[in-house]
Amino acid sequence: MDEPKTPTAKSHGRKTIRPSLKPRELMDPHPELVHVWKAQVITLLPEAFPGILGHSLTGRALKDGLWQLETVALRQFGEGKHRNVDDTPAGGGAGMVLRPDVMAAAIDDARARIAPVAPLIYLSPRGRPLNQKMAKSLATGPGMTLICGRFEGLDQRVIDHYNIFEVSLGDFVLTGGEIAAQAMIDATVRLLPGVLGNEASTEEESFSDGLLEHPQYTRPAEWRGLEIPPVLMSGHHGEIAKWRQAQSEELTQKRRPDLWSAYSARNKAD
Ligand code: SAH
Repeated sequence: MDEPKTPTAKSHGRKTIRPSLKPRELMDPHPELVHVWKAQVITLLPEAFPGILGHSLTGRALKDGLWQLETVALRQFGEGKHRNVDDTPAGGGAGMVLRPDVMAAAIDDARARIAPVAPLIYLSPRGRPLNQKMAKSLATGPGMTLICGRFEGLDQRVIDHYNIFEVSLGDFVLTGGEIAAQAMIDATVRLLPGVLGNEASTEEESFSDGLLEHPQYTRPAEWRGLEIPPVLMSGHHGEIAKWRQAQSEELTQKRRPDLWSAYSARNKAD
């Protein structure tokens, strides 16, 4: 299974409490955009959003209403006067675990405001590694709800109950899911129609055909005695394409034997 699946568990009705935190300026500029791709982020740090997503191409696209971003402040659903969201791990050990009842309240609240087929995803080092195929698949759907963990992460019962799909940014441990969520949103949003000025560029870049991208060059033609490979200056499109393909193959073979063997197997099968 490569793509995140829709959760099977039903949400338990809409909570009347809504996060009272004001969305940051760029976020939810058009609350009525029902058919616009939407990222929801459940987080203890809503102020970390839109973060980098509010800049450059993703920021402009957010302003233009090509996608929308909503944060759900987990703290709002915390218990008691101190709005507690975590407790000590059952069985002992270091750190704290996010409470299942608190997380469930946040999930139910969020899911009432997104298409039910939008996947519910927990950013987690135990998840399926994020890749281009996943981003492409997510970009064709209505959006996604992302859960950012903190401390030691989520109570397993929440993951099981909602059948949450886990996605990892890579084999390392972050202090929280927010950076991973922003990476995942960025990788997906740039594939939405109209977000990148030159849409052809997503077809040629790394991973789009299972290979790493060829090297890129620009002016000046000579820099510190180093020249741009002459074929790129030849104006001969056929030769340029051939050179780039060869470079892509060589790089992939050298740096990513895993991608190379998948690519070779696929090409043999075709
Ligand atoms: N105790 C956990 C790590 C918790 S790190 C373990 O060993 O698996 C705290 C939070 O950071 C996690 O709940 C998760 O949401 C996020 N996180 C950490 N590393 C991540 C990674 N590689 N990819 C995605 N999210 C990650």
